[in-house]
Amino acid sequence: MKYKKLGKTGLKVSVLGFGASPLGEEFGKIDVNEAQKAVDLAIDFGINYFDVAPYYGRTLAEERLGRFLQGKRNKIFLATKVCRYDKYLPDGFNFSYIRVIKSVEESLRRLRTDVIDVFQIHDVEFGTYSQILNETLPAMDRLKKDGKIRFIGITGYPLNFLKKIASAFPVDTILSYSHYNLVNTSLGKALAPFCRENGIALINASPLNMRLLTELGAPEWHPAQDKVIKTVKKAVSYCRAHGINISNLAMKFALNYENVATTLVGMNESKHVTENTDIIENEVDPNLLNEVLKILEPVKDINWLEGLPENNDPDSVKKSTF
Ligand code: NAD
Repeated sequence: MKYKKLGKTGLKVSVLGFGASPLGEEFGKIDVNEAQKAVDLAIDFGINYFDVAPYYGRTLAEERLGRFLQGKRNKIFLATKVCRYDKYLPDGFNFSYIRVIKSVEESLRRLRTDVIDVFQIHDVEFGTYSQILNETLPAMDRLKKDGKIRFIGITGYPLNFLKKIASAFPVDTILSYSHYNLVNTSLGKALAPFCRENGIALINASPLNMRLLTELGAPEWHPAQDKVIKTVKKAVSYCRAHGINISNLAMKFALNYENVATTLVGMNESKHVTENTDIIENEVDPNLLNEVLKILEPVKDINWLEGLPENNDPDSVKKSTF
């Protein structure tokens, strides 16, 4: 495993991070014993950054990860989130001071730990700028002073809003998803220079674009437009015809991006842990990669609308209507 500095935190994190949203069955039913094996193997391979959230499986992912990590907590850095819970409940998003203070206690209990290494606002674009600055971040600062959390992060989709918040409050990490992969490299233009200048750790999540860049294809809830999904299917077939799995190509492409501290991929099967770790050292055929990028060029860098209208990036388009 290779390691990099997580911004100015002093932590050294594995370049491949473990995304735990599949543990909450966000991509469908999973084999729980197999998922535990995946976590164990990831730790054996030196993966030391685990990202989860109360939202994933509406607390299921945190509960499972907490159980799987028993006796191993000190081998890894644990990142979880706050403010996003269940879209069907009135408390679906809650960016208030009091909810943040309460939420950390719930996460600590579920994760069976007494400290969260990186505590992140989950999808800032669903909150208002003023509440995030006046309530959410001050509450997180309080938790940092109290020793419940070590570092503060923000996550989300629209890149400009992440930057706007980080320009007003000194966060330790910024995570964006589906923004650095074979069909979208917007992360580099919008956030990488800003993070470098300010010593903020940039985290790339969803290098497989939430399963879009796999043989299985996008789940039904995937927000990408139909034309993106159709074009990616052509690229998947092209790879298959050339004897390579598009996921390996996609992982290599993302892992080669040097401006991020870690790349978080969702895993619940040990075979994926092995494949995604192996690809760090293995090469892919550069000609094949170029051909695939050519196929995907017509649908490159299309961003979808996410969150409150005022927080969207100007170039965003409507989500797909399935
Ligand atoms: P992803 O792009 O990592 O794709 C995960 C899917 O790909 C899962 O279905 C998994 O089984 C499958 N997969 C993994 N390795 C594979 C391989 N080698 N071959 C074939 N299939 C493979 O999407 P993700 O899980 O949404 O993103 C990664 C992590 O990043 C999440 O689990 C979460 O921790 C984090 N994340 C955070 C946010 C946020 O904070 N707003 C948003 C998205 C993701």
